[in-house]
Amino acid sequence: MLHLTLSNLRKGASVTPIIEKLLIVQDVDVRIVRMSRELTDIPARKKDILARLEGHHAAVATAREVLKTRQTDMRGLEGEIETHKSQIRKLREQQMQLKSNKEFKAMDLEIEVVQDRISGVEEKILVLMESVEAAQQEIRFAEDALKKEENALQSDLNLLIQRVAEVEGEIARLRTQRNALASEVDPQWLRPYDRIFKNKLDLVLFPVANGICGGCHMKLPPYTIHAARKPSDVVVCDYCGKMLYTE
Ligand SMILES: [Zn+2]
Repeated sequence: MLHLTLSNLRKGASVTPIIEKLLIVQDVDVRIVRMSRELTDIPARKKDILARLEGHHAAVATAREVLKTRQTDMRGLEGEIETHKSQIRKLREQQMQLKSNKEFKAMDLEIEVVQDRISGVEEKILVLMESVEAAQQEIRFAEDALKKEENALQSDLNLLIQRVAEVEGEIARLRTQRNALASEVDPQWLRPYDRIFKNKLDLVLFPVANGICGGCHMKLPPYTIHAARKPSDVVVCDYCGKMLYTE
């Protein structure tokens, strides 16, 4: 027999055997509801973990994409330099063919213009090199963050999967237990209890203490208090609809 604790039955309080049985059924029912809620919440928790993992993977992919773009830009600039250099080589070859000093000097100026262009591109390359390094750094950051969290998130995910199996097993076990316990409860009590429990999915049985309903804390009329004292009567609170009993 499983150990059952009756959280809502005060120590030393005495109730009729039927209420005692019903309180045990209620205890099991509340546990089943609580565990079912946990099961319901798990897909959202899994989704949250997967989204965080996905976020890290996306950050790494984005950082790699940025680096790729900057490297492409770099190759473009290096290509520009090659073009300018071959233009200078051609101009120099042409310069060798020139006869007059004036033409020679004019060609020098032309070459200088191209060399200035090369300097301009080289400056761009220096700036771009810094941003390539920054992109490489960004990839390392993103990869580190992924690595750091991946194991923890993966183990959270595994724990949730494990938890589903545990909770499902526990619910099945509690249901079997609940059916066995409920079969011992007089249907006159079990039926209204079941109806109220299904409606509220929360505690159904409340003691009357000092003429007050333990469920809603309203002062009960004398006839209700009187009826709740009779072990044979099923009494429901007029205000909150919960079942009343006297300790
Ligand atoms: Zn009440």
